[in-house]
Amino acid sequence: MSFHYEQQQLRAESVVLGELAQRFGTPLYVYSKALIEANWRAFSEHWPSPHQLCYAVKANSNLAVLNVLAKLGAGFDIVSVGELERVIKAGGEAKKVVFSGVAKSAAEMATALNYGIGCFNVESVAELHRLNEVAGEHGVQAPVSLRVNPNVDAQTHPYIATGLRANKFGIAMEQAADAFREAASLPNINVIGADCHIGSQLLNTAPFLDAADIMLNLIMELRSEGIEISHLDMGGGVGIAYQQEQSPDIGAYLTALRERCERVDNLTLMLEPGRAIVGNAGVLLTKVEYLKPGSEKQFMLVDAGMNDLLRPSLYQAWHDIKPVKQATGASSQLYDVVGPVCETGDFLGHARHIAAEQGDILAVMNAGAYGFTMSSNYNSRPRAAEIMVSGATAHVIRERETLQDLWKGEQLLP
Ligand SMILES: *Cc1c(COP(=O)(O)O)cnc(C)c1O
Repeated sequence: MSFHYEQQQLRAESVVLGELAQRFGTPLYVYSKALIEANWRAFSEHWPSPHQLCYAVKANSNLAVLNVLAKLGAGFDIVSVGELERVIKAGGEAKKVVFSGVAKSAAEMATALNYGIGCFNVESVAELHRLNEVAGEHGVQAPVSLRVNPNVDAQTHPYIATGLRANKFGIAMEQAADAFREAASLPNINVIGADCHIGSQLLNTAPFLDAADIMLNLIMELRSEGIEISHLDMGGGVGIAYQQEQSPDIGAYLTALRERCERVDNLTLMLEPGRAIVGNAGVLLTKVEYLKPGSEKQFMLVDAGMNDLLRPSLYQAWHDIKPVKQATGASSQLYDVVGPVCETGDFLGHARHIAAEQGDILAVMNAGAYGFTMSSNYNSRPRAAEIMVSGATAHVIRERETLQDLWKGEQLLP
């Protein structure tokens, strides 16, 4: 259905990627609408109402992506007012928004209260007091969930593990019950939920289920004290197959999670998937500028760098890299695929067997999540264009930045 070779040409749905590179230039992000929708449905079909799904906007925040999901009834997990405004602009409903993040400003809280978002996922007692104040000034009660850190090991890369005691996220389990009691005592806070998010790119679902058990015990303790927690939000973090990994079976995971939670009555469940919705639904196209045989290594120098796709540099993430045309006559050789940015850490892949020559187009696979959203203008490089393919049609969903965009808002001294 989505990215596949047909007649030796890599396609997104029925569009030939090589032709998109020619038409729109490179570097170029290309997404498949059908695959985003299929990924969403893999969750939603196992998550009947009143349970809710909130797509984690930071994975890919393009308005067209958000709009496709809003049309499927998605809620949204945001971490800034910028993301909130994107959701509203894309047709998302404020009441289906949950607001995560460790350092929300008073201004962000005020905007979110004005829109009437569904829940603030509060990450510290200090934040709770600030939110109580801001809600008081607005004459409203803020709906709140407290993010608890259940201290389970997500068995993922240290930079994307978030549920251990040593991480900056959430409230430590030892302090959680007290924080909930405090929240319940504040006049402008309405405690409605408990949440956690133990990490990202989890390939094994056992840590999620362990965390759920810990959260359920806490919820039962709180309810016995009269603190009526009505929802449990288990966050995101479901991994995808970048290499040879086996990605979790979504249906089995969601069913297991629902069954675990049946021991607590009248509990609405929420999830915040990001990567699992968009990760495999996007590729980054890049052109081979030069081949450079070194004395130790051969380099394939391409026109996309760490400013376009940061994950390899930041997390040593592995992305498959494939020529968009097979059997061009180029011989397969071992290359380090590196970008144009002036950093040794600027690479897309090390030690890859690839058959390509100067001028050929490569596809960096599984680049739909934390790809464009982490891109920057480092080295004064305009950010890539984004395309969404639907069937045989390619839509420009973000124009390539121009050189003028690079210095927008900058001024010389008078
Ligand atoms: C990043 C994040 C998510 C999404 O994580 P994925 O691994 O992309 O599913 C969900 N919830 C919170 C609080 C996050 O920070």
